[in-house]
Amino acid sequence: MRSYVDFHCHLDLFEDFETKVKTTESAQIYTLAVTTTPRAWPRNHELTAKLRYVRPALGLHPQIITKDTKHELKLWDEYLNNARYVGEVGLDASANYIQNFDMQKDIFKHILTRCSERGDKVLSVHAVRSVDTVLDMIERYLPQDRGVVVLHWFTGTKAQAKRALKLGCFFSVNYAMLRSKRGQEIISLVSDDRILTETDAPFLDDQSTQSEQLKQTVEILGTLLNMTPDLVSEIVLKNFKRVLSADK
Ligand SMILES: [Zn+2]
Repeated sequence: MRSYVDFHCHLDLFEDFETKVKTTESAQIYTLAVTTTPRAWPRNHELTAKLRYVRPALGLHPQIITKDTKHELKLWDEYLNNARYVGEVGLDASANYIQNFDMQKDIFKHILTRCSERGDKVLSVHAVRSVDTVLDMIERYLPQDRGVVVLHWFTGTKAQAKRALKLGCFFSVNYAMLRSKRGQEIISLVSDDRILTETDAPFLDDQSTQSEQLKQTVEILGTLLNMTPDLVSEIVLKNFKRVLSADK
């Protein structure tokens, strides 16, 4: 049986969150359950504590950041002691969120700095219309030997992708990204040892199951990389294990 990796999934945004965690675990899909607010951490942590496949990530999503989010950062700091994985974090400069961009930067700087101080954290990073700034900040505040960054649903340019590779970043890709010409171009220049898969569920608004979506992603990657889907999923699993062991 093929093993799938879903390195960015919002299990707690599903109505039947608990069931979703259970079915993901029994489907044996290695899943990073990202959160959008540290308030969601205790429940995610509790539900996944004894699981092998589902792991929780401590997030503070750039789209929820407003002047009222300051106290959430305090919570985030508190929970970081128990979190190996961090996400969803990052920056979003799209029209609806640009007005809080300076605040987002302050918070992202804080998060990267804390991760760097602690060391050995693995981050799932959102970078919408802000790839240069995100990469500048990673370069400045989270040196490669202090943590691993996985760029989720990358929408930047080829030049930005090259820079991200130099900074040691990985890429988690979903099939929607791989259907776009830009996404395909990115795959053509990212070496296959930096690729992970994801669903970003429930944001793709897709009724098919997590494993069906991952199967589709692995098949498209196979076509793009000229490999069998089985080989792609083996490589993705190997990359996932490398990310976890921080042995880049
Ligand atoms: Zn997400």
